[in-house]
Amino acid sequence: MTAKLMMKDFKIESIKELTKMTSDSFPINSFKMIPNDGKNFDFKAGMFSSIYIHKDDKLFRSYSIASSPSENYIEFMIEMINGKFTSLLANLSEGDEVFLTEPKGTFIFDPDDERDITFIAAGVGIAPFFSMLRYLKYLNKRKNMTLFYSVKHKTDIVNLTELKSYEYLGLKIHVTLTRDPLDRMWDGEYGRINLEMLNKYLTNLNNRVFYICGGIKFVKDLVDILINSGVKDDDIKRDIWGE
Ligand SMILES: Cc1cc2nc3c(=O)[nH]c(=O)nc-3n(C[C@H](O)[C@H](O)[C@H](O)COP(=O)(O)OP(=O)(O)OC[C@H]3O[C@@H](n4cnc5c(N)ncnc54)[C@H](O)[C@@H]3O)c2cc1C
Repeated sequence: MTAKLMMKDFKIESIKELTKMTSDSFPINSFKMIPNDGKNFDFKAGMFSSIYIHKDDKLFRSYSIASSPSENYIEFMIEMINGKFTSLLANLSEGDEVFLTEPKGTFIFDPDDERDITFIAAGVGIAPFFSMLRYLKYLNKRKNMTLFYSVKHKTDIVNLTELKSYEYLGLKIHVTLTRDPLDRMWDGEYGRINLEMLNKYLTNLNNRVFYICGGIKFVKDLVDILINSGVKDDDIKRDIWGE
């Protein structure tokens, strides 16, 4: 029998729109929550927590934590797809209470790992990387880090200014647009993240740790590319979100 995870009540402090809805993208909202007892969960960057709207509900969904473990609040970045649970989240307001389970997961960032780091995200899969980068900022730790971030449209990018603000910590950012038409003003990449794109920006695929987050097909395709290129399975951490 598995032990029941600890659950705590949190108050929604703010709900903000991070990206807007387009004809083929859903908006991503930030939900920032503060623990009613004033004591935040102890967790590691990369972990997720499950949200229940009411304590005794059967329905819940899991979300990666986007805030740093050093903060006294928890932030989630949630794609509002109007599904069974996200449509309930859409009805919540600032000041409402929800219940969060104790964070868990194996997609854990190790700030003491001396290897170069490659973050690979699709869409709202960027959320746990905000937790990791915000935590590194708190630790004031520089790393050799490269982020590959795939979005459908330029307007789907979450907090680009904040991401760029981490360049002083050693972060290099490569955003790729998979559905926008060519635009002379865009100096990033186009198309899906593939071996050619990885090789263009990484001098070596080995002796580094990969963190990949997104839907099952995205993560599986990238893991296959990396394994076929000789990367050791142990050097690839993945967070898979279902579809
Ligand atoms: C460990 C973990 C961490 C996660 N972290 C996050 C996170 O940080 N942010 C986040 O937004 N989600 C995250 N998810 C996904 C989240 O748990 C829900 O699955 C998601 O919010 C949809 O829930 P729903 O009940 O609204 O949709 P459902 O009613 O469960 O799904 C409705 C249908 O929508 C379709 N669908 C699902 N996702 C999409 C999509 N992106 N675009 C179009 N159609 C879709 C599917 O076909 C599904 O059948 C995470 C999942 C896991 C397991």
